[in-house]
Amino acid sequence: MGADSLLCRAADWILRARHLVALTGAGVSTPSGIPDFRSPDSGLWNQVNPFLAASIVAFRIRPQLFFDWIRPLARMMLDAAPNAAHLALAQLEQMGRLQAVITQNIDNLHQKAGSAHVIELHGTMRQATCIRCHHVVPTESLLPRFLASGELPRCDTCGGVMKPDVILFGEQLPMQKVHAARAAARACDVMLVLGSSLTVAPAADLPTIACDNGARVIVINRQDTWIDGRAALVIHDDVAIALPDIVACVAYGTQAPVE
Ligand code: ZN
Repeated sequence: MGADSLLCRAADWILRARHLVALTGAGVSTPSGIPDFRSPDSGLWNQVNPFLAASIVAFRIRPQLFFDWIRPLARMMLDAAPNAAHLALAQLEQMGRLQAVITQNIDNLHQKAGSAHVIELHGTMRQATCIRCHHVVPTESLLPRFLASGELPRCDTCGGVMKPDVILFGEQLPMQKVHAARAAARACDVMLVLGSSLTVAPAADLPTIACDNGARVIVINRQDTWIDGRAALVIHDDVAIALPDIVACVAYGTQAPVE
């Protein structure tokens, strides 16, 4: 099948979907300039050992290491703009054709693009919680000073260290979000798996849940994923190129009279 007919078939299934869910990974944000920071090739781990810098145990002992590591990443995320893939998903939701985005990303770009129903499996950079008294503040109140000085962000109430609400290595995922993601995977009849290598649980389990429930899984990723063999459709392309083409077909199909 040619590349165009793959895109048309994907658009056709989205048009017929009763309940569509998207699962997004780092590959959706790399076109916005956010490196895949879990990947050893990202360049972000050259100076530091991830288990020293970005694990919850290390955070509690030496938070400065974590903040030194995340500072350039935080600046990138703050400055980043959503790309065509984020915008295409927001458009699908606004058309009433996408019920939820489940994301492994912490960069807020789906929300910046206009998506309202986003399940953030690995937490978010939008807010931070005091590790001592659990006081919660929006990150934007801490960021300018932190980015300028690199000093540890401190709690206004008790002086404890403020931790961004992102899930660190060794930390439990938020169960409420995991449950919501699994429920979405069970409910969907079409799942888009976008820019995820599906190596990190529990996101990796979600396409299996969808397949087991009879859903069609459409994978758009540059590299192979282990779900490819069970997927109804696999498109090996940049998601920021392929997805907007598919959504344009869906928009056209929505306007065209139903046969
Ligand atoms: Zn506090």
